[in-house]
Amino acid sequence: MAEKLTHVIGNEKVAGQATAWESVYEPATGTVIAEVPLDDGRALQMAVEKAAQTFPAWSATPILERTRVMFRYRDLLVRHQAELAELVTREHGKVLVDATNEVGRGIEVVELACGAPTILKGELLTEVAHGVDVSLQRVPLGVVAGITPFNFPAMIPLWMIPPAIVSGNTFILKPSERTPLTSLRLLELLHEAGLPPGVVNIVHGGRTVVDGILTHAGIRAVSFVGSQPVAEHVYRTAAAHDKRVQALGGAKNFHVVMPDADWDRTIEALTSSAYGSAGERCLAGSVAVAVGEAGDQLVELMHARAQRLVVGDGRNAQSEMGPLIRAQHRDRVSGYIAQGVSEGAALVYDGRRHALPEQGFFLGPTLFDQVESDMTIAREEIFGPVLSVIRRPSLEAAVETANRSRFGNTATIYTQSGRSARYFRDHIEAGMVGINIGVPAPIAWFPFAGWKNSFYGDLHATGFDAFMFYTERRVVTERW
Ligand code: NAD
Repeated sequence: MAEKLTHVIGNEKVAGQATAWESVYEPATGTVIAEVPLDDGRALQMAVEKAAQTFPAWSATPILERTRVMFRYRDLLVRHQAELAELVTREHGKVLVDATNEVGRGIEVVELACGAPTILKGELLTEVAHGVDVSLQRVPLGVVAGITPFNFPAMIPLWMIPPAIVSGNTFILKPSERTPLTSLRLLELLHEAGLPPGVVNIVHGGRTVVDGILTHAGIRAVSFVGSQPVAEHVYRTAAAHDKRVQALGGAKNFHVVMPDADWDRTIEALTSSAYGSAGERCLAGSVAVAVGEAGDQLVELMHARAQRLVVGDGRNAQSEMGPLIRAQHRDRVSGYIAQGVSEGAALVYDGRRHALPEQGFFLGPTLFDQVESDMTIAREEIFGPVLSVIRRPSLEAAVETANRSRFGNTATIYTQSGRSARYFRDHIEAGMVGINIGVPAPIAWFPFAGWKNSFYGDLHATGFDAFMFYTERRVVTERW
C-alpha cells in the first residue's frame, strides 16, 4: 500500500478528511509511490487559520532575521541539491541533469530573496512642502497562496515562497497532485533553516481545493502556474473575489531557424528545447519555422538527431529524455501525432516507433514537416516531444506566422546575423525571447512571464516584480 500523503499545517502533519484520492506515480516505471488527498476543504480552512494566526508575529519579525532564514535555506538547498534532484526525477521523470538544473534555478530565487533588505527598502522625499516629508513603505499583504503545475516540482514553488515570505507574508502552497513529494521535502528543509511553524503550509488537492483558495476571504493574493484554461479560470475567479492574482499559463513556442544559423549548436539547442523533459516545459520549442533554404537542412539534421535520441529512465546517465507524466498524457500526445497525420502534415519521424523501455509512460521524439499554421499540431499546446516544422520564405513571414499564435510565452531565433536577430527581437510577440538559446530559462533577477494567453495578470514571477506582487505600497505624508 502506497504512503498516504499528509498536509503540513504549522509544521504538523495533518491527515485530514479527504474523500477522494489520486495515485502519484513514478513515471519511469509506472509504479504507484504515494496517494494524494484531493478534496480536503477542512484542511484548507485550517491552513488559512494557521497562516492568519502566524502573520502578525512573522510580519513583525525584523527583515534581517527573515532574510537570514533565506541564507540558511540557500545553504541547505545547495547541500541537498542532489537528493532533491533525485526526488524530482523520481516523481516527474525528467533526466537527472535537468532535475539538478531545475533545483539550481530554484536556489537562485532564494539567492534573490537574500537581497530582500535592499529590494524592500522604501523611499523618502523630504520637504515636498514646507516641513512636509513623504515616504513610501512596502508592507506584506497577509496570507497568500501558490498553486503549482507538475512539470517543475522544485523550481516553481521556489519562484513563489522565498519572495512571499521574506516580504513578511504567510503562505499556503497547493502543489500539483501529480508531483507533490518535492514540495514536502522543500518545506522540511525550510523548517530546518529556522522558519517558524505556520509561515508556510501545504494543502494538497485538486480542483475543489483550488476553487476553495480562489474564493476564500482570508487569502489576499494567488500565484498560479499551469495550463492556459486553468490560468484563465484562476485569474477571473480570484479577481472576482478581490484578490491580487498572477496566473502564468500554457504556451506554443516558435523557433525561427535562419539559413545562416550555426547548425551544430542550433540542432543541439532545438533538440534540447523540443525533446528535453519530454517536451513538458512551458518553454519547450514546439514549432520550428525554417526560413528559405534552411528547411531541408533543418529537417535532415533534426531527423538524424531524433533517431539517435536515447529515451529511458531519467536516473540512467545515458538517458537524454525521460517518460511523460502519465499514461493518459502519453496517449493524448500520441493522439496529436495521429491528428497531424490526418490533417496532412508529413510525419518524418514517428516517436511511437522509437526504441522505448517496456515499463513506464514513454514516447519517443516525433518530427513533422510541411506543417501549416492552421493545423491543430501548430496551434495547440501538445506538451510532449513533438516538433513541427513550418516553412516560410522570409524572416518577416516567419515572425508573422509566430505572432499569429494566441500564446506568447517564449520565442527563439537561430542566426549569425545581428540584423536578423534585431528584427526578431523587436517584432516577435513573446515575453521571453531567445537569440541562439533553445530554452531562455527564467533568471531569478528578471521578471518571468509570457504575453497574450500565456499570462493573466500584471506583475510577473521572480525579479523585482515578485516583491511588488507580494507587497502593498503605503505612502505616508507627515508634518511635525
Ligand atoms: P494544470 O493546469 O493541469 O494544473 C496546474 C494546477 O492547477 C495544479 O495544481 C492543479 O491541481 C490545478 N488544476 C488543474 N485543473 C484544474 C481545474 N479544472 N480547476 C482548478 N484547478 C485545477 O497544469 P499542469 O498539467 O500541472 O502543468 C502543465 C501546464 O503548465 C502546461 O500548460 C505548461 O505550459 C504550464 N506551465 C506554464 C509555465 C509558465 O511559466 N507559463 C511554467 C510551467 C508550466
